[in-house]
Amino acid sequence: MSTILNAATYPPTLTEEETANLAIALRDWSLSQGLVIRAPTATNAADEASVHVPLTLHPSPFPKDLFDRALGLQTVFNELYAKIADDSEFLNDITKELAGVDDFMSDLWKLYLEVDEITGGVPAQALTLGLFRSDYLLHITSTAEPSIRQVELNTISASFGGLSSRAADCHRFLRKSGLYGTAAGSEFLKDENMPVNPSARGLARGLGVAHNAYGVKDSIVLFVVQQRERNAFDQRWLEYHLLEDFGVVSVRASLEDIAEFGELDSITKELRYNGRHVAVVYYRAGYTPADYTSPATWEARKKMELSKAIKCPSLATHFSGAKKVQQVLIDELVLAKFVPDADVRGQLQATFVDILPLDDSELGKKARTLIETCPEKYVLKPQREGGGNNVYREKIPGYLKALKDETLWRGYILMELIEPPQDVRNAIIRAGKVTEGNVISELGVFGCVLWDSKTHEIKQNFEAGWLLRTKFADSEEGGVAAGFGSIDSVLLI
Ligand code: ADP
Ligand code: MG
Ligand code: MG
Repeated sequence: MSTILNAATYPPTLTEEETANLAIALRDWSLSQGLVIRAPTATNAADEASVHVPLTLHPSPFPKDLFDRALGLQTVFNELYAKIADDSEFLNDITKELAGVDDFMSDLWKLYLEVDEITGGVPAQALTLGLFRSDYLLHITSTAEPSIRQVELNTISASFGGLSSRAADCHRFLRKSGLYGTAAGSEFLKDENMPVNPSARGLARGLGVAHNAYGVKDSIVLFVVQQRERNAFDQRWLEYHLLEDFGVVSVRASLEDIAEFGELDSITKELRYNGRHVAVVYYRAGYTPADYTSPATWEARKKMELSKAIKCPSLATHFSGAKKVQQVLIDELVLAKFVPDADVRGQLQATFVDILPLDDSELGKKARTLIETCPEKYVLKPQREGGGNNVYREKIPGYLKALKDETLWRGYILMELIEPPQDVRNAIIRAGKVTEGNVISELGVFGCVLWDSKTHEIKQNFEAGWLLRTKFADSEEGGVAAGFGSIDSVLLI
């Protein structure tokens, strides 16, 4: 593996003309095949301007054994998070830790409790759908075998499954067209090392399976989306596959729209949107406080949660994706409660790095010492999603001290930095412009799980493809839309 990860020969060096041809081919394939995102200049969802998604010129190398391991673990993580979501006592304890320091998480949990009280603990719909994405970085140190380490597990609005399939197709097309040239290193680019990525169809299958389980003909899947979503085409691909493979129609609506046009039948608990019966609610919004623009948007979420539509995710499942939950799972005793099999537990733990709380516990005290002595080894994370919220390395002590008071520290987790290889090279093409550099790739693995939260029976559980996002090594985070990262595909080595 290290031979290619560190190889001077990969990716192959291209002439200026070869690079220019490759960039044109990549851009046109993307524009014609829907590997697109709404233009940064677009101000609303009716704006027609779209651009190709930032994409790497070459697929980035990824060790095959570790890739297979990540994919193989997905059904185990799916089951783990389904179990966590069903354990309201456990989640309630977590919320106590965050009470008074994280308003958004507290509000989500308050809504959960309110719904629980209204339904008397018997929700109108026992089935829950999870479309999860577990994210990993390669961890390569001088002392241990290369491994994959989990960055986080997303239980709501896990994105890029639609476009990711296209990215792999694009790289496969470029190779087939002979556009990668013949320079040293091009021999690594073989069809069998560039897997097809089934993420778009796989996630659509998750929605389709849930729709079938709901069992009402002509009911719809409601995509809850942000009003100014730029990544709408990623979501569209799921809609198209859902229609093609399952004959299921989806309708897009914002929380504001649902506040206005969504109806909950007080007797049957059916959810209707503009008069149409909703079987599944799929959230691609609602994961960030900014999405809740008014009390009416919270009411909309409540209406959906109270309904018998299958939620992807339910409030409890959404909450289970909190970084605080990830931190608590580091404790073997806690993990063992959910994963009793020591072997399986070991496989999950092999992907963990240390994560510490910033509370008054012994671990919290240890975290305080670490922040003073070696902040360069850590990242500080609040309970937020969507990128751009973390504080890195030496900035941590100053950031924490600037908070109003120390009780607020409890809202954060302190995570050991994963150490991905630093000398992998690639180029990112954004708005038609090619920029070369050292890159870091983050592998995401999608998983679908449908379960009964009353009987805890898992009805469906499958891995659903993957995502590779690549950023320049000198940027801390790789937000694709934010302007740093790009979509990529794997070259298995
Ligand atoms: P979000 O939910 O906002 O995506 P993440 O936990 O995924 O939050 O962090 C955002 C980014 O920060 C990741 O994509 C990764 O690039 C970087 N990052 C997060 N945790 C680590 C870590 N432990 N080691 C190295 N990089 C990390
Ligand atoms: Mg996240
Ligand atoms: Mg992330």
